Amino acid sequence: MLSRRKFLKTGLTTGAAALPLASVLDAAQQPEQHAANSAPSIPAYQLVAMPARLPHSDNAAGPWQNRVRRVGQTNMTEHDPAVMNVEEWADYWHACKADVVFVSVTGILAFYPSKVPFHKHGKFLNGRDFFGRCTAAAKMRGMRVVARMSPDLNWPDALAAHPEWAMRHEDGSVQFSTEEPRLFKTCMFSTYMDDYVPAVMREINSLYGVDCFYTNGWPPIGMLPECFCAVCSKLPASGTPAYWRAFNDRVLSLWKRYDAIAKEKNADSFFFANSGGNVRASVNLDQLGKTIAWFQADNQGRTYDDPAVWGCSLQGRVCNAVLDGKFAANVTAAYSTGTPGWRNLSKTPEETRMWLSETLASGMAPYNHFVGAEKGFCEDRRWQKVGEDYFDWTARHDAHFAVRRSVANIGVVMGQSTQLLYPGPATARVRTYMRETTHGLYDALLRGRFAFDYVHEDRLEPERLAKYRALLLPNIAMLSDRQCQQLRAYVRSGGSVVASFETSLYDEDLKPRPDFGLADVFGVSRAGDAIGTNGNPYYARIERPQSAHPIFEGFSDTNWLAGAQNRVPLKPVADPLLTVVPGFVRYPPELAYPPVSETSEPAVVLREAGASRLAWFAGDVERTYWLTGHTDLLHLIDNTIRWVMYDERMVSVEGPGLIEMFCWETRPGYAVHLLNYSNANAFHGWMQSVEPLGPQRVRMKLPAGVHVQAVQLLRAETSIPFKYGHQLLQFTIPSVADYEVAAITVVSGMSSANTQT
Ligand SMILES: [Zn+2]
Repeated sequence: MLSRRKFLKTGLTTGAAALPLASVLDAAQQPEQHAANSAPSIPAYQLVAMPARLPHSDNAAGPWQNRVRRVGQTNMTEHDPAVMNVEEWADYWHACKADVVFVSVTGILAFYPSKVPFHKHGKFLNGRDFFGRCTAAAKMRGMRVVARMSPDLNWPDALAAHPEWAMRHEDGSVQFSTEEPRLFKTCMFSTYMDDYVPAVMREINSLYGVDCFYTNGWPPIGMLPECFCAVCSKLPASGTPAYWRAFNDRVLSLWKRYDAIAKEKNADSFFFANSGGNVRASVNLDQLGKTIAWFQADNQGRTYDDPAVWGCSLQGRVCNAVLDGKFAANVTAAYSTGTPGWRNLSKTPEETRMWLSETLASGMAPYNHFVGAEKGFCEDRRWQKVGEDYFDWTARHDAHFAVRRSVANIGVVMGQSTQLLYPGPATARVRTYMRETTHGLYDALLRGRFAFDYVHEDRLEPERLAKYRALLLPNIAMLSDRQCQQLRAYVRSGGSVVASFETSLYDEDLKPRPDFGLADVFGVSRAGDAIGTNGNPYYARIERPQSAHPIFEGFSDTNWLAGAQNRVPLKPVADPLLTVVPGFVRYPPELAYPPVSETSEPAVVLREAGASRLAWFAGDVERTYWLTGHTDLLHLIDNTIRWVMYDERMVSVEGPGLIEMFCWETRPGYAVHLLNYSNANAFHGWMQSVEPLGPQRVRMKLPAGVHVQAVQLLRAETSIPFKYGHQLLQFTIPSVADYEVAAITVVSGMSSANTQT
């Protein structure tokens, strides 16, 4: 194994924060030797004990959906009433041990003999009660039924009778579906949502016993609608903070109304809707989290635009930030996602399994989904065994997958309003700006094998932040005065923070401030407008001996490091560690040298205040790392996080490869999930193979008074030896194929060292 120093010097990105083993052991066994505040280099990390276990709770208590472990959906087409073999469909999902299935009511096409005006019967329905048959078949097999609606589109006769239902362009013309031009887009601010949708729900409640209602296609995911109908013309302009507030009010008011209608027949019923979009969700996730009974992460697979393999687990982290233990399921498309995408054709089993594994690892319930049932139960049946085998495996280990809370000591502020409303700095107005920022930091956190959560900007109360040694603010441009005050209080209480670029430069209305809202906290001050790159980006000059500070760990033989594509210039500070060498010409090479080589403009500002450590990057370092892959930025981010954290960890996983790690407290004990992303297709297309990784050494410090009974590997389905003493649990996972879960069973209230081999 490479030492950390060697690893950085050679520039190898093995993905592991590979430390000298002896020093890890020393640190773990001598926790009283806390990292010195101004150590000349980063010490071996400190394992800190996990918090006391949550009190015992009854798994059978709480709403029924919290016990759902598997969800199945054949997304029904207009043709299915004529071709689908309902018995075969129901047998399949029952064999998969699905607890609940989705059955289409819709709203675009009725799958039952609806009498609601403009609920057009599908052309193959022919008077059949297809919805009723499917519901009965599912119920007969003990599966619950979600009544699936789709309120986003309707037909010309509805438009003729209700022109006010349509979304309009700026010129007043109707907005139509781009794929089926006869279908118009319905406006969520119109009476379509007030009258038509409730009428369909009440008709379903009057005819059938369904368990809950769901709307597909509304609210929109990852974007805000833009409509110029009579109602919307009176609203603030789409894309503005004021519009977002009106949008949230309307969504939540309809949500609550639909929920009340769902409950008219059955108090255990509820309403839920499309809620994907991860950090860029359209509905305010803090408010939604307080309203919701089921988070439907409609986040079905990787896309050409957003190809990072961790798209699903990123969604799970977002859910964990806002649900307070409520139920979330992430939809896995077993069909071919991408552009173009085949709705009735399977994707690779490796990719399907990875998405399902990310769902489980990040604390959500797996949900398999395919569209249409041509020729009985699909012309392409390749997806069926893949899903059935996977679900069957999960069913053997359900107890370990129901998570109670994450084990993490880093909080990444997700900045939903910045994600949704901030257009990027004046120097780089691109729609994908914040997505690239998110992925840059995500990548760095995975490579550093940090245990982290997302934290919503509207949930910065001290009791939520107390579990984090540090918060990271990757260009969280929009922060209200109140949020700045909450972050100030967090720092005063000893918490550390890393922030970058335009963080806190705007308030919640996107109104620019003259200086950063957090200027006083970090001891930084803005010296001018954002500066972009025209040719060579700026460089960062190392101003002090490299032994002077841990953030220089691993850098040698250079005075310069990579800067970033954009920066907000800062006023000089005393004794800067890194200064800005302003950008210059890239081509022609004759001119590729810095006309100004030395400045007093800081590229990073570090500060210590009591137990709090603070780091401010002038540049958009996370996004620039994502765009370029420059490892100077990766190592600088990694070193800085380790420094502000005092190198404290709650769980450490050492070994080869790029993995994503989750650690959860569960009812039986703990679960450490490892997703293997060391694969040629981690950032393009789909997984096509499994490339197993070598041994992963896991170390964690459990709370006092906990006795370890067993460590099982759930994928390998075997128990493994472990060592346990002085609260320190150690074991080695010999190999990780695509995914492994180390499930730790404990008994509380006893304290003794034990070893099982
Ligand atoms: Zn409208």
